[in-house]
Amino acid sequence: MSAATPLPPALIAAVKRHWGFTSLRPLQEQAIRAALAGRDSLVVLPTGGGKSLCFQAPAVFRGGLTVVVSPLIALMKDQVDGLTRIGVPAARLDSTVSNDEWAVTAEAIRSGELRLVFTSPERLINTGTYRLLRDAGAHTIAVDEAHCVSHWGHDFRPEYRQLARLREFFPKAAVHAYTATATDRVRQDIAEQLGLREPTVLVGNFDRPNLTFRVLPRLDLRTQVREILDRHRGAAGIVYCLRRKDVDEMTTYLRAAKYRAVPYHAGMSADDRRRTQEAFAAEDADIVVATVAFGMGIDRSNVRFVIHAAMPKSIEHYQQETGRAGRDGLPSECVLLYSGADFISLKAIIEKSAEENNAAPEYTAGSVKQLDEMARYCRGAVCRHKQLVHYFGQQYESPNCGACDLCLGDTQEVPEAVTVAKKILSCVARVKESFGIAHVIDVLRGADTASIRGRGHHELSTYGLLKQVPKTDLRDWVYQLLGQNVLVQTEDEYPLLKLNKASWAVMKDELPVRLIRLARREKNSSAGASA
Ligand code: ADP
Ligand code: ZN
Repeated sequence: MSAATPLPPALIAAVKRHWGFTSLRPLQEQAIRAALAGRDSLVVLPTGGGKSLCFQAPAVFRGGLTVVVSPLIALMKDQVDGLTRIGVPAARLDSTVSNDEWAVTAEAIRSGELRLVFTSPERLINTGTYRLLRDAGAHTIAVDEAHCVSHWGHDFRPEYRQLARLREFFPKAAVHAYTATATDRVRQDIAEQLGLREPTVLVGNFDRPNLTFRVLPRLDLRTQVREILDRHRGAAGIVYCLRRKDVDEMTTYLRAAKYRAVPYHAGMSADDRRRTQEAFAAEDADIVVATVAFGMGIDRSNVRFVIHAAMPKSIEHYQQETGRAGRDGLPSECVLLYSGADFISLKAIIEKSAEENNAAPEYTAGSVKQLDEMARYCRGAVCRHKQLVHYFGQQYESPNCGACDLCLGDTQEVPEAVTVAKKILSCVARVKESFGIAHVIDVLRGADTASIRGRGHHELSTYGLLKQVPKTDLRDWVYQLLGQNVLVQTEDEYPLLKLNKASWAVMKDELPVRLIRLARREKNSSAGASA
């Protein structure tokens, strides 16, 4: 079936009958076409993009048995319940299924009654489950959340590694991988680990034009959160916090101020969590204050704002979490309140969990790198839509998105940006690209330190060139230059600043740069944030 062939009318009719959708999204159509042709595929669609239909619709239309591999029992349960409701025979084989239920499901599989069976990678590979499914003639294996197979993804799960044996156990089946993580490295890793054979690779558009992105320095968290809530009175939204304690405190604070807020985090009982989800879905609550534990399975399409009270762990996380806003396509706002302290807290969390879980060093390094990318996003002076889309390996053409703090002109431009940038870059050149941020800033501000005197750096032509600039601004600007890739940092424990081709282009006026001044109160003002 070529890309131009229309899908069988009977399939469109089945989608309408079971799901009630009157049309398919363009990428769904292509993914379904690949599935019907029995071709392996790798389908990358952002959260909310409609991945499930890509394997569910062909499973129903083709008949026979499709196996869906999923990382979480809750996800399997949601999907099986949803399918059962719309009259599609589906079942789960996971660790919570009792022996009796298992026997019933196994019988239904053998008799060919079921269209979709959901299972976890460890069940599928380690137990005899694969034999049962193979002998029943499973023709398709759909691997959901396929990035879990990759160290480079944001949610690596060692059990997913076992899927490398899928091919051995299901030599004839087509394998489809679905994920919302589109970075090149993860994509390649998925294709390799799952042994995809000449897969049809489909990557959806990652830009969400209806979302307005803003990043603000965190000065006074509670006041800033309320300012945003008040812009969206009575509308639905999510406030993501770093820790459970922050969730509890913020919820208490907001409720006292008469906002209809409910908490959600993994430390709550399953009942309490369910109550929160139900209250939000039923519109009895407007605001969910949550840790990242709140996410999969949120069924409310009119979320008008997503606030991050602290920096997320990675751009993938940020994309997933902000992706919950504006699923109905209407304008929505995503605000990230950021402080330099977030990087340090999150890095400590990563290192602690690596130690506890005996994580491979390359895994930890990968996590820190992702954190670094996230910090770069926060500090950058580049259009947010452009940065996000670039991160996911796509081009962003428009010079002004009209939907981010930078393009909307919320930020204060530094008029002398080019001159300042040149001074910073030439200072990096003068210290022979052998020093880190702190030292370069000291030189530019004409500081009198032992390190400067000892190296004779007080005699450099760039010494004291930016004496009048506050240290915090100068630091922001160095990060903004890094964010624009006109300056680079080594990946050592004590990173050094280095120049690249773009740095020289800036110095020769061949490349524009932009610097912004972030709003800031007096020193230590971020201490009020509950980081
Ligand atoms: P993902 O798994 O990619 O995050 P889902 O499969 O959960 O996305 O789908 C996201 C939402 O989009 C769901 O509410 C679903 O009902 C809806 N949806 C999916 N496909 C269509 C379609 N063709 N038309 C209308 N709504 C759709
Ligand atoms: Zn923009």
